[in-house]
Amino acid sequence: MKAARRPRPWCALVGAGPGDPELLTLKALRVMRRATLLLVDDLVSDAVLERALRGRRAPPRVVHVGKRGGCRSTPQAFIERLMVSQALAGERVVRLKGGDPLVFGRGGEEAQALQRHGIEVEIVNGITAGLAAATDLGVPWTHRDHAQGAIVVTAHAREGGRGPDWPTLAAAAAQGLTLVIYMGMSRLAAIQTGLLVGLAPHTPAALVEHAGLPHSRSRLTTLGSLLADAQDLGSPGIVIVGPVLQAAAARAGRGRARAA
Ligand code: SAH
Repeated sequence: MKAARRPRPWCALVGAGPGDPELLTLKALRVMRRATLLLVDDLVSDAVLERALRGRRAPPRVVHVGKRGGCRSTPQAFIERLMVSQALAGERVVRLKGGDPLVFGRGGEEAQALQRHGIEVEIVNGITAGLAAATDLGVPWTHRDHAQGAIVVTAHAREGGRGPDWPTLAAAAAQGLTLVIYMGMSRLAAIQTGLLVGLAPHTPAALVEHAGLPHSRSRLTTLGSLLADAQDLGSPGIVIVGPVLQAAAARAGRGRARAA
């Protein structure tokens, strides 16, 4: 008699979006329902997690692999080892990540680690924070009157690596590209100084904290006032720079004029 073949080890990297459960995809919900083990990122909201677990007769084991997991931050190598060992042990592992799993989320590295061990990887897109931030501001990344495209960039440098070359990005923005900057809230001084090399101080800029969530806060400002206007805003946050913000700035100006 032939022994029953074990199913191929499987792991899914699922985008949880910016935090509002209504922004989860149907596919994310379906795939999360297959999980026996949920590895949850710091940036995943409680509301999303609640939605993922709702109505499950046999709920999956939930492990928070972020600051809420007990450590300041679970080292990436540990998370990858955990994903690999649990998937190889037959668990149906779902890694739930904030936003989109492949946008600055180390999803690419995790997928490679899994594939090296012959584990089938399923990736489910989520709405990335930079898009949610633009929507909170009521502006698009692109608008044919203002911007032909957008540059999505992290302000964070790898250990030992160099951060982005802000003057080069300023030159690109001056040519009509919107800058959508992740991980920038603690590096606003460097962003401001670097971008002012190639952009005028009156260039519109905006900050959005907790984009896509009910407690989201945003501020429309200019590049010249970016740092001064961000004092009470923190992480997680997105910085957007470029003329696409003009329409939002004009709307805010009209609102202020009406209120005066
Ligand atoms: N994969 C995520 C990004 C992870 S990198 C995505 O696609 O959205 C972490 C950075 O994302 C944070 O430093 C912050 O810049 C941004 N971020 C994540 N969630 C956010 C939110 N709700 N509001 C604003 N910025 C957010």
